[in-house]
Amino acid sequence: SGQKYPDCIALLPGADVPCELYGARAASIVDLMAADLPVPKAWAFSVETVRKFARSDFSAEFPMADAVRAGRLLSVRASAQDRAWGGPETLLNIGMNADLRDVLAKPLGENRADALYFRFIQDYAVKVGRLDAEDFEIILERCSRAGVPNFGAAVQQSLAFYEDETDSAFPSDPELQLRQALRSLAVAWGGTSAKILRGALGAPTDAGLGLIVQEMVLGVGRGEFGSGVAQFVSAANGEKTAFGRYLSQSQGRDAMDTSKKAQFLAKDPRGPSLEEIYPEAFERLQELSGFARVAFCDDMQLEFTIEDGAVWLLDAIPAERTGRGAVAMAVRLAADGLITRQAALQKISPKSLNEILHPQISAKAVRDRIANGIGASPGAATGRMVFSATAAQASEARGEACILVRVETTPDDIRGMHSANGILTERGGITSHAAVVARGMGLPCVVGAADIDIDTRARKVTLKGGEVLGEGDVITLEGGTGDVLRGAPDLVQPELGGAFTTFMSWADEFRKLGVRGNADTPEDFRMAQAFGVDGIGLVRTEHMFFDEGRLTVMRELIFADSDNDRQAALNLLLPMQRDDFIEMFTMMGELPVCIRLLDPPLHEFLPSTREEMQSLAESMGLPLSKVMTRIDDLTEFNPMLGTRGVRLGITAPEIYEMQARGIFEAVAKVQNAKGISIKPEIMIPLVSAKREVELVKSRVDAVASAVQTELNVKLDYAIGVMVETPRAALRAGDIAQNTAFMSFGTNDLTQMTYGLSRDDAGRFMRDYVALGVFPEDPFHSMDIDGVGELIQIAVDRAHAVNPNIKMGLCGEHGGDSASVAFCHEAGLDYVSCSPFRTPIARLAAAQAAL
Ligand code: PEP
Ligand code: MG
Repeated sequence: SGQKYPDCIALLPGADVPCELYGARAASIVDLMAADLPVPKAWAFSVETVRKFARSDFSAEFPMADAVRAGRLLSVRASAQDRAWGGPETLLNIGMNADLRDVLAKPLGENRADALYFRFIQDYAVKVGRLDAEDFEIILERCSRAGVPNFGAAVQQSLAFYEDETDSAFPSDPELQLRQALRSLAVAWGGTSAKILRGALGAPTDAGLGLIVQEMVLGVGRGEFGSGVAQFVSAANGEKTAFGRYLSQSQGRDAMDTSKKAQFLAKDPRGPSLEEIYPEAFERLQELSGFARVAFCDDMQLEFTIEDGAVWLLDAIPAERTGRGAVAMAVRLAADGLITRQAALQKISPKSLNEILHPQISAKAVRDRIANGIGASPGAATGRMVFSATAAQASEARGEACILVRVETTPDDIRGMHSANGILTERGGITSHAAVVARGMGLPCVVGAADIDIDTRARKVTLKGGEVLGEGDVITLEGGTGDVLRGAPDLVQPELGGAFTTFMSWADEFRKLGVRGNADTPEDFRMAQAFGVDGIGLVRTEHMFFDEGRLTVMRELIFADSDNDRQAALNLLLPMQRDDFIEMFTMMGELPVCIRLLDPPLHEFLPSTREEMQSLAESMGLPLSKVMTRIDDLTEFNPMLGTRGVRLGITAPEIYEMQARGIFEAVAKVQNAKGISIKPEIMIPLVSAKREVELVKSRVDAVASAVQTELNVKLDYAIGVMVETPRAALRAGDIAQNTAFMSFGTNDLTQMTYGLSRDDAGRFMRDYVALGVFPEDPFHSMDIDGVGELIQIAVDRAHAVNPNIKMGLCGEHGGDSASVAFCHEAGLDYVSCSPFRTPIARLAAAQAAL
């Protein structure tokens, strides 16, 4: 802009102090002043000038020189470009020397003046002179009789000590003190450990620091003096409350020092409070907090000092808040007209909703971490370790919380997973069986915990250091971070409703993208309904066969090698499917439900233990050897790329025909019973060629017309495909001619685009992310450059031939905010994810549309 900003600017209402130039604290102070709040006089040095201070270049102007000469005490405070990056500690009472000590002795009394002087010498010696704070505590102890310090003597001894240690007299010139203070904060900012620390908080390498010089409000004196920190809103739930600390006769952030006996802000049964000691100041603070809320359009935390009864504000920062507190605050700010609904929606990061939707480990709890894996399904869960699905069920029957610990999970574990409070596996990645199923159930889950060794036979877990835990030992999983903790730390339970419900309804007002739920069983459907989805975007029908009784029939179907046997199994499966669909359609009414025809990675259905093989042999009346031979026949080298999805539908068409019949008969029944019209969406998985679609479609159409005649009903339905192979994406123009909708199965599409096994990637994913090969696990947050490009190609080619085609996404990415934003941009109609993640998708979709 060509505008010249000064090296140092006096902070006054209306002063132009951009955060990049003078730091965030400078901007806050100006805002407080503009709102006419009581803030001590202050100046801000620019980021550029502070860089010069670090090189001992003091050529900048010092507009506070008059204040220095007039003998006023000053503080120097950090003002980083972004609050989140922190900054070096404040230096208080600059300007203190023997003369000023004598002046202050009159109003404060000798002892307080000496105490102030002593603390300044110590502080300056430590922060500027790099001496050891401990040495000054020893001096003070030496100068104490029966625990009562003689600060006068301590001042003399520490001045002598300083001179001994540094070979120079303690500086008494206030201007020199100020320059050195500025230099020391500037140098501290450039230190290696400070850089690493703020780098971890997201600061860029060239992050800048501004510095504030501010006149001191003493906080000590005869009468009510002190300092503290206050916020009038609950961090936990956003409700109005008073929360903070106060310490009489103190300065800076002394009240927050846990070694000092601070008072509470508001009345508290545990001890004295400012509200009782000095109610006028408490009320004044409350009033100022209200003004600050209006000035900043946010709930603020105030740093304050009381001087002879008057309240001064030194700083205001956004009030501390949990995920739940943040939503409640945003809703109330909008309800009070301070911000728009759009701004309220922008204030909350979609991911932080996880904190509201699942139990969390209390922030105050002690964390004893024993392992770390991939956080596959958020929330915290505590329980005793069990090593088999049966043990989990037994545990549930006893009413005992358990964590199911497996090397990896298979459909055989489903019932055990239902019984467990959390799942821990040694193998697998974000789209492995355990992860997908756990997310669907809303169960906390950690997968790929490669640093532990799980021995399910011996029912033991060996930790990295060699320690062994066994069945019954209590652990806690944190499915967000992937941490495994020993014992049972305090948990905070989720609470929906209230502000959360209001907030989500605002998200729905603004979003353009539909948000559906993935649901496989009637329980899932109930959950989806409770979360208020726009429909069901994926019913994985193979998951409907994981139930014990059904798994056997399913296995009989897979094992059948004659048409008769196969038909017998299908006859058993048809009513089961139909009943499930009836329940689903009844629940969802006219909302769209997209049912995917069977997509079984066959290996997931094969019995794996001898016991299971034996019981299958019994139920099929076959010799065990025959069962084993058949398993050998069916075993594929690469089942994820084998007879899956539509390939099974093409080679064993009667399965899809049975499913289509189940769907149509259910539709007829529910339409009749409820007097509504249902248009099911039937989805073909894993296609890669147009001809596959034609074959399946003609068979489904034939079943539909048969059912129409048999039951004398009119059926309306849509047939679509899943785009899960790169070829399907590239040939979307062909495929779209025959299909009403396309849904991107980004789990498989990611697997096949990278050539990266979704079940094995967990082993190296952490290293890949740590080394920056992938910015993030692509099974978790979509690879927009690669997979995203394929999706965009498919969308464009499909729209070109079929402008009315409906496009969705139903991989795990549907619950990831960055991926949802991409889907909005790419022009999809909806995303679908497990019901527990739909609030995240709804908020991300709203933010993308704003
Ligand atoms: C997918 O591949 O993204 C998908 C939704 O299907 P599944 O996870 O069942 O393979
Ligand atoms: Mg798939």
